[in-house]
Amino acid sequence: MHMLKQRKLVVEFGRKLVTGGLTTGSGGNLSLLNRKQGLVAITPSGVDYFEITPGQVVLVDLKGKLVDGPGRPSSELGFHLALYADRPDVNAVVHTHSPYATTLACLNWELPPAHYLVGFAGAKVPLAPYHTYGTPELAQAVAQTMRGYNAALLANHGLVAVGNTLARAFAVAEEIEFAARVYYQAKAVGEPKILSAKQMKEVLAKFETYGKQ
Ligand code: 13P
Ligand code: ZN
Repeated sequence: MHMLKQRKLVVEFGRKLVTGGLTTGSGGNLSLLNRKQGLVAITPSGVDYFEITPGQVVLVDLKGKLVDGPGRPSSELGFHLALYADRPDVNAVVHTHSPYATTLACLNWELPPAHYLVGFAGAKVPLAPYHTYGTPELAQAVAQTMRGYNAALLANHGLVAVGNTLARAFAVAEEIEFAARVYYQAKAVGEPKILSAKQMKEVLAKFETYGKQ
């Protein structure tokens, strides 16, 4: 089977989206790009994550042309491809409807760096303006908003995270959901203290080497 390793990873991380509390049902989607082959393995549209098998993961080229897989690719294929075209450093995209990030997105707020782990996305988590799911307008807005950021809130919708690997994109989604929860909780009882641009610059510099043994 074409891209078996990547398809297996898409299945595995799709299940982690549900078990990790980052999405419900068939909400959200994820993909992994093999830049050498110019092929993207992406979750099929509207299929329960625990029913997806490696053979059901859809393969498309970078223009979105179907290469393999019995079903339809995720309705958000457009923003996955827009991000791969815009960001040569990105090989994986994870989209979630995780509850706290989505709460802020429904308020049409950005996520400021109240917690330093916002650094997984950049100096803040920006907000992409609302467009109907699965549209070219949403794809363009997501790619534009994520110039310089590894995550964005999607207004009235959810969260998108990217990375050079699927494990990294998933970790970004997890950490940003944590930071969104902490911000929401802090806001519920007081006014969170936001880290300064200088403090975040220091965090981002330290993250360059964090976890590299
Ligand atoms: P798909 O099942 O088509 O990937 O759609 C889920 C979603 O989150 C749309 O934004
Ligand atoms: Zn969605």
